[in-house]
Amino acid sequence: MLSFELDLNCLAIYFIDVILPIPIQKTFTYSVTKEEADFLKTGMRVAVSFGKSKMYSALVLNIHQTAPTLYEAKEIHQILDESPIVTEKQLKHWQWISSYYMCSLGDVYRAAVPSAFLLESETIIYRNESFTDIDILTDEEYLIYEALQRQSQLTLHEIAEVLDRKKVLPIINRLIEKSVLYVKEEIYETYKPKLVKYVRLHKDYQSDESLQELLSKLSRAKKQRDVVLTFFQLKTEKKPIKAKTLSEKSGVSAQIIKALVDKEVFEFYHIQTDRVQFKGDENPLKNLNEYQVKALDEIEESFKEHDITLLHGVTSSGKTEVYTKFIKKVLETGQQVLFLLPEIALTTQIIKRLQNYFGNQISVFHSKYSVNERVEVWNNVLNNKVKAQIILGARSTIFLPFSNLGLIIVDEEHEVSYKQFEPSPRYNARDAAVVLGKLHKAKILLGSATPSIETKFNATQNKYGLVHLNRRHGNVQMPKIELIDIKQKRRKKEMVGHFSDRLIQLMNEVLEEKKQIILFQNRRGFSPIVECTTCGHSPQCPNCDVSLTYHKYNNQLKCHYCHYQRAMPNSCGACGNSTLDTKGFGTEQIELELKELFPNHNIGRMDSDTTKGKFGYQKIIESFESQEIDILVGTQMLSKGLDFNNVLLVGILSADTMLNYPDFRAHERAFQLMVQVSGRAGRSQKQGMVAIQTYNPYHQILQQVSTNSYGEMYAEQLQDRWQYHYPPYYRLIKITLKHRDYTKVNEGINWLARALQNVFFENVLGPTAPAVSRVRNQYIKNLMIKIPPKQSLAKTKEHLQKIKTTFEAVKEFRPIRFIVDIDAY
Ligand code: ADP
Ligand code: ZN
Repeated sequence: MLSFELDLNCLAIYFIDVILPIPIQKTFTYSVTKEEADFLKTGMRVAVSFGKSKMYSALVLNIHQTAPTLYEAKEIHQILDESPIVTEKQLKHWQWISSYYMCSLGDVYRAAVPSAFLLESETIIYRNESFTDIDILTDEEYLIYEALQRQSQLTLHEIAEVLDRKKVLPIINRLIEKSVLYVKEEIYETYKPKLVKYVRLHKDYQSDESLQELLSKLSRAKKQRDVVLTFFQLKTEKKPIKAKTLSEKSGVSAQIIKALVDKEVFEFYHIQTDRVQFKGDENPLKNLNEYQVKALDEIEESFKEHDITLLHGVTSSGKTEVYTKFIKKVLETGQQVLFLLPEIALTTQIIKRLQNYFGNQISVFHSKYSVNERVEVWNNVLNNKVKAQIILGARSTIFLPFSNLGLIIVDEEHEVSYKQFEPSPRYNARDAAVVLGKLHKAKILLGSATPSIETKFNATQNKYGLVHLNRRHGNVQMPKIELIDIKQKRRKKEMVGHFSDRLIQLMNEVLEEKKQIILFQNRRGFSPIVECTTCGHSPQCPNCDVSLTYHKYNNQLKCHYCHYQRAMPNSCGACGNSTLDTKGFGTEQIELELKELFPNHNIGRMDSDTTKGKFGYQKIIESFESQEIDILVGTQMLSKGLDFNNVLLVGILSADTMLNYPDFRAHERAFQLMVQVSGRAGRSQKQGMVAIQTYNPYHQILQQVSTNSYGEMYAEQLQDRWQYHYPPYYRLIKITLKHRDYTKVNEGINWLARALQNVFFENVLGPTAPAVSRVRNQYIKNLMIKIPPKQSLAKTKEHLQKIKTTFEAVKEFRPIRFIVDIDAY
């Protein structure tokens, strides 16, 4: 018996190491046959079972002949791809991300590929309600479709039972491609299936003489004859004929066409049309102005020495126009361009501008796109299709399978949204893009009017090249910034609600001129705090350690952390008096005040409450562009690269909350935010105006904003960072523990603090509780490791990993979530 088993083992001499899409540090080894080994390549997917009965789509990392020593390799279920869906370069990039950000390759795999590539036995599948085209389904596919009519959702496991077989992933893949199904993550956006149905003659009738034959065959079915006649008419145009067109032109219902298909006169077929299409002509690039020409030359010069160059250009200096010149050049060499934007939804404008120049060479990668759309972009990039020469998207776009990248542009490189905080991998897309660029030997252009301190530092240290663009296009002057002291205004009773008389005056002047206004308030909702004036109690979220925010339009209290919501109570939950009052203010309240102050003008609001859905932003941006809206009030979304040419005034209603935020970057951020919002004013012809209301007009950051002194802000912040040991001098690793049990978290964090202090001494900060110390019923505690300039980051992480492993070996600590965040800012 024993020798027989040994023999079997000898036969199985081919193995593959795979990445499983789960947060497990290691890769796993499976056995394959010789034929499978010959067929498989790194970057293809295989279905494997793992654990008791779970099935996963695993990714092949390498193929070899070394059996694992610790366990017996299982066989794979089947191969899922014909050719690799992930490139070797990508895998190198993933490996860097996994090692730099201390996360598993599985985490990266999961984040990197569209969820449709990750089907597993527990994946929940839904029916696409708008799919009706059952003719295109095979019998087996139809069984699944039918099962989903009876039950609105099924796991792959259940589907395997329906079909009475194990290997269901390929068929599910096909159904997703045909838009029959979608997977759970996709429910926020229903989409129209884009498989257009075409009609052609059945193969028996494809000769030209067949018309006569058909007409006589159908002599008694008048409508069917009409269809055939119309078909032959349309056929002369030598274009594929849509079933819909045929039915419209011949004036018959779809059923009649279907009947002809059943009679085997016609047959249906499909052409995969790409969902994201640009309609229109390409236009020539704009001629650069003299300053832009100079910047362009300097960037080119800089690229000779530095692969990475920072374009520090003031708002509205025309950075985008400069980018386009580089894009064009790179396209001419046949290479791909990656254009990163902080938030895709906000940048429909840039997309439009680039499409104007580059038409169908652009693909957009959008987290709000359906899974099918994302798969399409993925495949187009992988196959280096014409339409995937320029890829535009937010942070996750760095994960696409580029084969031939020549240029990466990171627009608004200072933006926080490049950093992913949750879930793992907690990467910064700007930094990961730099590494990606190096792998491809591509050039990297970082652009901003307010560069992050760390990037500016890299540039001044000559690590990056640095090019300035100090003039607005058309020589429009930078906006004039006025600070309004609202403490004084309150005392003198010169405030109406949250508006100073001065701001109202400016607004009236601007509206008189038929110009537009943007108002910035960094909080959404009506009022962030509800408080009882009798006992001081304010309603709290039951799941999080935070007060609920009042939303007036539906009279609800909402938690902005966990989305809990309840009706606004009539009386105080603590003392019972009906003396609940609201404190502080958000965008919704401003909108209401505006309606009273300016009853004859149209007010719009842009925050995450009003921009839900795929086209939410676009609608608001378009109605502001077309000047249906006179005054637009919104949150920091307004600061991200919008270009309106009729805005003359920007008002910041309250600068103070931004300045008092407990974070080492608060001042840098406040500066960036205010300069960027201000930058929306006066972008064409006339100098814009900015009014900033504040209780502290002498705050140094406000002074620097009002004089547009980036350099001063930079120098001062840098000094603080040096003095208090923060980036860019020191590096930061943040460790977070989370658990439902407060004592457990506390014990865990204290143990961890001691263990870390033994190694890193005074460079361990904390433990501390964050400002909101409980979210979704999980208690949170943090520690921070500061890494001095000369200490090795790699060594530090090694130590940390050891301590983490020990921590996780302690039984009581095992259930605690342990989160490591490298460069946690
Ligand atoms: P930035 O990205 O630096 O904020 P933009 O590229 O958005 O600036 O340019 C601001 C505005 O000026 C845009 O409307 C743009 O079309 C216009 N513009 C910039 N450069 C030129 C140019 N060379 N010719 C014509 N218009 C330009
Ligand atoms: Zn909550």
